[in-house]
Amino acid sequence: ATAANNFGPKEDPEKYVMGEELGSGATATVCRCVRKKDSKQFAVKSINIGKLRLQPNFQKVSEKLQREVSILSSLRHNRIVSLFESIESQDYLHLVMELVEGGELFDHIVNIGSFTEPVARYVFIQIAEGLKYIHSQHIVYRDLKPENILVDQKNSRQGLLEIKLSDFGHSKLIHDGYSTALTRVGTPQYWAPEVSDPFKAAKGYDERVDLWSLGVVLYVMLVGAYPFDGLGEPIDAQIRRASVQFPAGRRPSQNAQDLIRALIQSDPMQRLDLDRCLAHPWVSTSAGSLSKVL
Ligand code: ADP
Ligand code: MG
Repeated sequence: ATAANNFGPKEDPEKYVMGEELGSGATATVCRCVRKKDSKQFAVKSINIGKLRLQPNFQKVSEKLQREVSILSSLRHNRIVSLFESIESQDYLHLVMELVEGGELFDHIVNIGSFTEPVARYVFIQIAEGLKYIHSQHIVYRDLKPENILVDQKNSRQGLLEIKLSDFGHSKLIHDGYSTALTRVGTPQYWAPEVSDPFKAAKGYDERVDLWSLGVVLYVMLVGAYPFDGLGEPIDAQIRRASVQFPAGRRPSQNAQDLIRALIQSDPMQRLDLDRCLAHPWVSTSAGSLSKVL
């Protein structure tokens, strides 16, 4: 482990024992950890603030970390990873979270190439429900992608993946609707045009950026490739055109194509909202008939 092997709050400095690494991202390493008193297991995201302190933009980074902690601790939902406590030591900020064992949705897609429609539908509904809750709390997620969607293996039955949204490092509270979030954050392949285009981004955007990303995630699950990959043409230009093509031989059903195109809409006002997503024929016609899944 990169952080200290034992950590805990000041009054109980060795409350947890660090275990093996579970994953890492751009900002942090996440390890298994065990609470000494009852052997309960958690996941701990450790951010090396000692190292960040040396950066000129430390003030901004530190505000962002505080935002991640306050947003995550304010959210309570079945589809969102819960935060138990945050502990600051000399050089690290440790976020002790619910342990979700089953890896990233990303690896599940890569391992089998792409999902069948029923399997994708089951995941899609859960993401949409998680997002609906996040937006109801006036939060834009801004980093929806399969790397940040964790699979909860122990609750997944017969290929039906149970998922949880994690990594609120790019999330932001939006106050009065539009024109509050201004910066380009997240991952280019999942950027909506109003994020990707610096001129548009300067005017601000809102939670509808997550709907675009949701369309990209659905495309990735069903096709096993990105709709906009920056190959042949710069990715910003592809996103600006917003033309969604399905490779021959990997075309999902007409309903799935319609839903993807309704989400990957240039104009955020025209983008399908989450209630309409959940009522879309691709979602609703087969919802409930899980026997068709396998
Ligand atoms: P970053 O901000 O650096 O992207 P993340 O919060 O996305 O960090 O965590 C990095 C990786 O660690 C994730 O992609 C995932 O593989 C793993 N991970 C994160 N949270 C958990 C968790 N609660 N349980 C299990 N693994 C996790
Ligand atoms: Mg991440």
